[in-house]
Amino acid sequence: MKISNRKRVLVTGGAGFLGSHLCEKLLKDGCDVLCVDNFYSGTKDNIAHFVGNPHFKMMRHDVTFPLYVEVDEIYNLACPASPIHYQFDPVQTTKTSVHGAINMLGLAKRTKAKILQASTSEVYGDPKVHPQTEAYWGHVNPIGLRSCYDEGKRCAETLFFDYHRQHGLDIRVARIFNTYGPRMHPNDGRVVSNFIVQALSNEDITLYGDGEQTRSFCFVDDQIEGFLRFMALPTGDNGQPGFPGPVNLGNPCEFTIRQLAELVIELTGSKSKLVFHPLPVDDPKQRQPDISLAKRLLNWEPNISLETGLKRTIGYFESVLLSGS
Ligand code: NAD
Ligand code: UDP
Ligand code: UDP
Repeated sequence: MKISNRKRVLVTGGAGFLGSHLCEKLLKDGCDVLCVDNFYSGTKDNIAHFVGNPHFKMMRHDVTFPLYVEVDEIYNLACPASPIHYQFDPVQTTKTSVHGAINMLGLAKRTKAKILQASTSEVYGDPKVHPQTEAYWGHVNPIGLRSCYDEGKRCAETLFFDYHRQHGLDIRVARIFNTYGPRMHPNDGRVVSNFIVQALSNEDITLYGDGEQTRSFCFVDDQIEGFLRFMALPTGDNGQPGFPGPVNLGNPCEFTIRQLAELVIELTGSKSKLVFHPLPVDDPKQRQPDISLAKRLLNWEPNISLETGLKRTIGYFESVLLSGS
């Protein structure tokens, strides 16, 4: 039985970069938040400021094991997102995406909760269609170093859609494109955190390949707003599930990695030099979301420019480096 009117929301991966921002926003919106995380790539520091809030609860748990709790909504974010983290223990990465999805879908089925999956632009692999629309099936290597992540996330999407068709679950599959901001881990190896930490330390900026590959970077606040709008989409007529997705969520402004490096140097006033390292295997050459569907369906589009978002992220990393943590 539910006594309080507060919505009970489960965020798996809630101690990670995106998860901690999502928990913060849900608490501000008056929800009871249950954060589940095994601290594989997330940290207690990311959520330390909510501990003590009576509407926040942290549970140390690995989503590859069953979880029995009572909730109204589930955001399934648990999964390491940076290539060095997800390739460190690739079998665990696939288990997290696949067994984690099965358990969270089983939980959603029992509790009749709405469930949002944090899928990824990696389902498009090294795309042959540009920009990527949701209708594109992707170009993914099934046996490479990135496959544990890409194929794990693809299989999770399959499970979400089969639970939707077979059991009538109200699912939301969001395909997230590169997102950055405060609380990214300084050592997680993703390009924005690497470049900012290198620039602030006046160390060489490591460009992989020739730096001409592209990405489209979304600031975290814009991304979280997209999650919430997607989850809030009304259910269908007669209590039928709402629109399941997939929906691309990202910023369509595309930059080469070299342009990103140059902008970080300019904004930090750094003395760092660009140095070139080999391109990792299967590194996608270009990536840009087509967000027409999100604009139409959610009335959503990012409004924080790369320059503004980078300035905020640089401010965060300056404080982290100063504190030595
Ligand atoms: P992150 O690594 O900071 O967060 C992931 C969180 O999941 C961490 O706190 C980690 O400890 C936790 N986790 C990992 N395995 C777990 C398990 N088995 N059980 C419980 N918790 C587990 O990464 P992020 O950038 O915050 O990404 C969050 C989600 O969004 C991921 O699912 C990721 O695939 C997806 N995503 C992120 C981006 C991006 O650019 N940030 C892009 C596409 C998709
Ligand atoms: N599950 C869970 N919490 C729940 C309900 C189910 O973690 O509240 C897990 C459980 O491990 C189960 C999986 O979700 O194996 C899939 O559940 P489902 O009901 O779809 O299948 P079944 O129980 O028949 O395996
Ligand atoms: N990259 C880079 N230098 C770095 C880290 C990454 O040039 O120090 C490149 C990487 O090869 C890729 C792009 O930046 O082409 C984005 O990498 P990231 O790991 O952030 O995300 P993903 O490849 O998953 O989009």
